[in-house]
Amino acid sequence: MDDIGHLIAGATGTKAARYGDVFDPNSGKVQKRVVLGTKADLDQAVAAAQAAQPGWAATNPQRRARVMFRFKELVERDMDKLAHVLSSEHGKVIADSRGDIQRGLEVIEFCCGIPHVLKGEFTLGAGPGIDVWSFRQPLGIGAGITPFNFPAMIPLWMSGVAIATGNAFILKPSERDPSVPVMLAELFKEAGLPDGILQVVQGDKEMVDAILDHPAISAVSFVGSSDIAHYVYSRGVAAGKRVQAMGGAKNHGIVMPDADLDQVVNDLAGAAFGSAGERCMALPVVVPVGEDTAERLKAKLIPAIAALRVGVSTDPDAHYGPVVTAAHKAKIESYIQMGVDEGAELVVDGRGFTLQGHEQGFYVGPTLFDHVTTAMTTYQEEIFGPVLQIVRAKNFEEAVALPSKHQYGNGVAIFTRNGHAAREFASRVNVGMVGINVPIPVPVAYHSFGGWKRSAFGDTNQHGMEGVKFWTRVKTVTGRWPDGSVQGDSSFVIPTMG
Ligand code: NAD
Repeated sequence: MDDIGHLIAGATGTKAARYGDVFDPNSGKVQKRVVLGTKADLDQAVAAAQAAQPGWAATNPQRRARVMFRFKELVERDMDKLAHVLSSEHGKVIADSRGDIQRGLEVIEFCCGIPHVLKGEFTLGAGPGIDVWSFRQPLGIGAGITPFNFPAMIPLWMSGVAIATGNAFILKPSERDPSVPVMLAELFKEAGLPDGILQVVQGDKEMVDAILDHPAISAVSFVGSSDIAHYVYSRGVAAGKRVQAMGGAKNHGIVMPDADLDQVVNDLAGAAFGSAGERCMALPVVVPVGEDTAERLKAKLIPAIAALRVGVSTDPDAHYGPVVTAAHKAKIESYIQMGVDEGAELVVDGRGFTLQGHEQGFYVGPTLFDHVTTAMTTYQEEIFGPVLQIVRAKNFEEAVALPSKHQYGNGVAIFTRNGHAAREFASRVNVGMVGINVPIPVPVAYHSFGGWKRSAFGDTNQHGMEGVKFWTRVKTVTGRWPDGSVQGDSSFVIPTMG
């Protein structure tokens, strides 16, 4: 069995006092062990980062961008290998793993343009003979703590921008699927990134706490569940760091009476059940507006769900694979039982699903609930599995209120042919990312990603200009070049450019 280790100062190391199991969710078997690191491991990574970062920050941005270009080519070269490893540890189907990697690569493409992005601002003659200019400089050493569900995309969201802007970056990936982050870091090394600029430290809470408390780490980017996000945010900020912490989600899809229901059902099937629902931008709640819409939608959803194929990650015909762990499967199934106990109508029950030849795999069949209400815990909480809940709304106002009042505010979608309704919805809804006839409105890399309410703590989003803002700080210089003659008397009032 392989052990997955850290990548510190360009070298891999797998010696540790503690290890965690890494499963293959398809078979349910332990396939590897991951090192669970300590503060001493982090100290080594920080020392290497401190040694390398000033030189990297002083490297001109064009040269830093060239590393990004080479890295992109290397990831494309190794796409198949990366996707297979990703699927074998996560459980998502291969095509979806390729998408996971591709969405991360798109942030790298943005980073290829970093010289342009880092150009500053300049005012000639802000006062007599005085010029003012501002520019952004890296923070020094940043860290990222990432979830299991996008082991390529999310590490690349963070590391790409952090490195391109001149920082050293230390990644603590999820201990559930830690191989791909190390493989990506190795490809960065092959692309010419100096040792110490991108390092991977493996671990669990012990390593996270060491990162949050480390005085040499200036900024922490976190993505994961909301309680942990809030904890990371509070502890990191208390230690004087800049922190952005993205949390959980419960995204709603509003279906207006005029929507094209065949298209909606197509979109919903992928958005609710793709990746077994383990996406923060999944669409696990559908809100038909009006009883007639609800009945028509339900009638179309039932056969669409019956046609879904659950299979192993390598099955090219499978729509989705297993969930990540046995514990997560049990949690999803307990939410299904809770939904029944709370009085929702269980229309399709995905519990007890087994795949022939893979009986120990962590599969959950697609599940549909109707008549879910806002009072139910299964509505209020994130299930993060292949479970779609129908919450019926009487009218547009009620439909806007549902996602707006929910504790999470990551993504939301409206399906309609009415431009006015869509525009009203997008401007009024209390959610950070909105789709109009787009079920999973993950913004492209040169825009930025971030939810509202308990879906994100801190005030900057991931990637795009928001990411650049997060990983840099502004310096503003006010300068003049006197001609040598002494001008004016000493001034004891606040200088103005009057
Ligand atoms: P998680 O919160 O369990 O883990 C995320 C990270 O935190 C991991 O690296 C883990 O090692 C670490 N961690 C776990 N428990 C900790 C603790 N007690 N103290 C300190 N660190 C701890 O999340 P997950 O299960 O890996 O990922 C799924 C969650 O992530 C879902 O809630 C999903 O909605 C969310 N997510 C959000 C976004 C977003 O952008 N908003 C994107 C993807 C996933």
